[in-house]
Amino acid sequence: MVNKSEKTLVLIKPDAVQRTLIGEIIQRFERIGLKLAAMKMTVASGDHIEKHYTLDPEWRRKVGEKTIKNYKEKGQNPPSEDPIEISQPVLEGLVKFMSAGPLIAMVWEGAHAVKIVRKLVGGTEPLASDVGTIRGDYVLDSYEMSDTDGRAIRNLVHASGSSEEAEMEINHWFSQNEIISYRLVQDEILYDVNLDGILD
Ligand code: ADP
Ligand code: MG
Repeated sequence: MVNKSEKTLVLIKPDAVQRTLIGEIIQRFERIGLKLAAMKMTVASGDHIEKHYTLDPEWRRKVGEKTIKNYKEKGQNPPSEDPIEISQPVLEGLVKFMSAGPLIAMVWEGAHAVKIVRKLVGGTEPLASDVGTIRGDYVLDSYEMSDTDGRAIRNLVHASGSSEEAEMEINHWFSQNEIISYRLVQDEILYDVNLDGILD
């Protein structure tokens, strides 16, 4: 059965706050029918960011492998063939980038929330992410440019990659009493089977 209250963590990264894109980004999640369950603006510590990215013990390997694959698909040489070696400067860059200014942390809720949000956000590298996605529409960074400059890719948004990741990340950013469970009038048109009571 589909969990209609599936939750996912979204961060509006400091670059998006500086680009004054907070409203645009929130609007994308609202208009698809997801429900905002929690939200805060904060300046994160470097330690908090490092923990966020290493909640998944496999993250270092995955991010390195993804980077190598991406370079090879473009016919370019990756900065290293060792995924873990690649992940170290990426993590350091992320710590610096994500704690450089205020960010917005949010929990979005609804059927297939994790996948729907990833679809709206688009692929990691803005150069390659689809037109119509947040990363595809509002920014132009690339692996090549960020790796050459020794910094994290500026791609505006973080979104949990799976339900397990979402659960860990939500607990990392929010306490239970900050997550609000409530009803929206539109829930009925999204999820109710009968649609009784619209007509007089
Ligand atoms: P996503 O945010 O799409 O889930 P990852 O979890 O693989 O992507 O990586 C986390 C973040 O690290 C990315 O959003 C991006 O900001 C940054 N990043 C990933 N790979 C690189 C890289 N090779 N060089 C610079 N920054 C990177
Ligand atoms: Mg990720």
